[in-house]
Amino acid sequence: MPHSDSYNRPIEYLRLSVTDRCNLRCIYCMPEEGVPPLTHGDVLRYEEIERLARVIVGLGVSKLRLTGGEPLARKGVEQLVAMLAAIPGVRDLAMTTNGTRLAATADALARAGLRRVNVSLDSLRPERYRAITRRGELADVLEGLAAAERAGLRPVKINMVVLRGVNDDEVVHFAQKTIDDGWNVRFIELMPLGAGAQGTGVPSAEVRRRIEDALGPLVAVDGDGAGPAKYYQVPGAPGSIGFISPLSEHFCFRCNRLRLTADGQLLPCLMSEQGFDLRTPLRQGASDDDLRERVRQAIRAKPAGHHLGMGSPSPSARPMSRIGG
Ligand code: SAM
Repeated sequence: MPHSDSYNRPIEYLRLSVTDRCNLRCIYCMPEEGVPPLTHGDVLRYEEIERLARVIVGLGVSKLRLTGGEPLARKGVEQLVAMLAAIPGVRDLAMTTNGTRLAATADALARAGLRRVNVSLDSLRPERYRAITRRGELADVLEGLAAAERAGLRPVKINMVVLRGVNDDEVVHFAQKTIDDGWNVRFIELMPLGAGAQGTGVPSAEVRRRIEDALGPLVAVDGDGAGPAKYYQVPGAPGSIGFISPLSEHFCFRCNRLRLTADGQLLPCLMSEQGFDLRTPLRQGASDDDLRERVRQAIRAKPAGHHLGMGSPSPSARPMSRIGG
């Protein structure tokens, strides 16, 4: 049974940031020069991540997602996948990745027990993709998507952060992919966090209007009920269109997640300034009971909501690349 927080929300989902490093420098996420990296000793070892995940799963969490930074930028991450897949009680094991290294790793990840991937992709134009990511190649991601499908890491979901004046003219093209290629695309509102505070996002209602103007009315479909996305389809399309609207439509009231940073801070909320340090007690020899109590404290500290609004500055000092989205 999942453990509930003070607002009766069952906590079922843990996002694990396995590294703060990334091979890309998306304009709204990281500065060109990157952010000061954690030192090797700061970052949890795989055995440490597994131990903490095991304790947290023991409190009723059943869904794990690896993120980063770029999870595929950490060496041997498929070993971690296998370790996490072996934890009794884990029902879903997923990864959020930029997809650039997926072509080479999808098979090994699937064999290790990964169930599915979400791939971040903000443009279908090679030049623009390079400009947004400052160093990525679109062809690598497209190969990665194909490899993920072949490896059975399904459903592959594609996450696009919509940026006004940068890629918002592509939303219909992405939506068309749900018809032509069965893609499952999710449009995300830019959050004013870190480098994202400088850009301008597009409210989901406007993205939807633009898609409907071009492709006709969307129909609502059931998606992952507990997740933040609302799902639709172009009638008859094999794929789906999701909207994730952290600013225009608060979904905190059904938030079911915790986040563990690469350096072992457990964050009750995406916007938490203060994490619950699990690394120090872990390295000082804490028992599972001690760690469990610390996790319970974090769950109890989960705030009702984060009050982010369109255009409001971020209260969090932690960059998105360290939180893991
Ligand atoms: N490297 C992986 C990736 O690219 O998916 C995982 C980490 S990345 C921080 C996770 C997600 O956060 C990506 O989909 C990225 O587009 C999104 N993201 C980063 N900064 C954001 C912001 N300010 N607002 C909304 N989404 C953001």
